[in-house]
Amino acid sequence: MRMGPATVGRGSCRGPAYHRDVRRERWRTHTRDIWIGGHSQRISQTSVRSCHGGKWKLRQSHRNVRGAARFRSPRDSTGFKPPPLVAMISLPVPTTSARSTFLRCAANTTNGDLGHRLEQSAKHVMLAAKTYLKASNSKTWNSLPHSIQTLPATDDELRALYPRTMSALGRAGRPVYDAIFNSAPNGVCPLCGQGKVFTLDHYLPRSVYAHFAILPINLVPSCRDCNFAKRERHPSNPGDQTFHPYFDNVQGDRWLFCDVIVTGGVSLRYYVDPPNGWTKVQAQRVARHFEVFRLAESFTTYAANELSSLKARLRILFGRGGEKMVADDLGLEATSSRQANLNSWKTAAYEALSQSKVFCGGGFEQIAM
Ligand SMILES: [Zn+2]
Repeated sequence: MRMGPATVGRGSCRGPAYHRDVRRERWRTHTRDIWIGGHSQRISQTSVRSCHGGKWKLRQSHRNVRGAARFRSPRDSTGFKPPPLVAMISLPVPTTSARSTFLRCAANTTNGDLGHRLEQSAKHVMLAAKTYLKASNSKTWNSLPHSIQTLPATDDELRALYPRTMSALGRAGRPVYDAIFNSAPNGVCPLCGQGKVFTLDHYLPRSVYAHFAILPINLVPSCRDCNFAKRERHPSNPGDQTFHPYFDNVQGDRWLFCDVIVTGGVSLRYYVDPPNGWTKVQAQRVARHFEVFRLAESFTTYAANELSSLKARLRILFGRGGEKMVADDLGLEATSSRQANLNSWKTAAYEALSQSKVFCGGGFEQIAM
């Protein structure tokens, strides 16, 4: 068996304050294709890095090839229990004042002329912040103007406020950054429901909307993958808008499902199917969110790991009570998972598996090991 080298993402340490305030270790899971025995195989790999003397060092790396042992969080042994994986998590709206944040950051410069022009721009930026809030109530962020003309400060100067005065350690806006960063329950990315929060994502990108660069309600905790997947995307119409964790709550309605495919193996295909009561725009938005953050891909990987751990158990159940006992067992798991979250990959997987006569009737034997 030939396997590729174990590689993990690289990153430089963000300094002692970051670790003191947030955490001393970072873990992430990602998928990639490797060659095993002459065939391409998709794996998920989890790495854990700790900070030592200002440098990130790899502490643990778990590779999970489909068919290998069930994926387990590297923190299981230390008591950390991963939260249920949900497709989208709502967060409380940040209560930090947009005005005080802007003024504090604007004053954080030794350039008197720049500071003065930023201060002169404050009232216009605050007016724009009000329109953002209004658009949030109607879910029409796409209608917001890309720029405020005739401001004393330029778009580049407004845009630079974020790295210069907010995300950088020790700067005036850093407490606001930290508060938003830490607002995600258990440090889980609200956009995908599975990655660890790594940065703040501008819901409306600062490259396009410079005047919202340090607006607290435009900043969302995000994992690295989601932040990278979204990049500079910005909505051009209402249906093009991904979910906004502060203003959308889609956890109460069922919209995530999957199909079971049993042919020369078992695989799951995830898709979204919004409930009848949703508007056309809501349906478009859930599909957009699913696509932008590549949820089908990551959910399929998690489900594949889950499947590989099921085969032995289902074989025993089938021997005892046939198809019905297998279906009942999977159905019970689906019910339990549904209570935790309607739209988790797990709920969709167990529900579909329990309803598949082919799978429960012996198709589970085709699960790759
Ligand atoms: Zn994410």
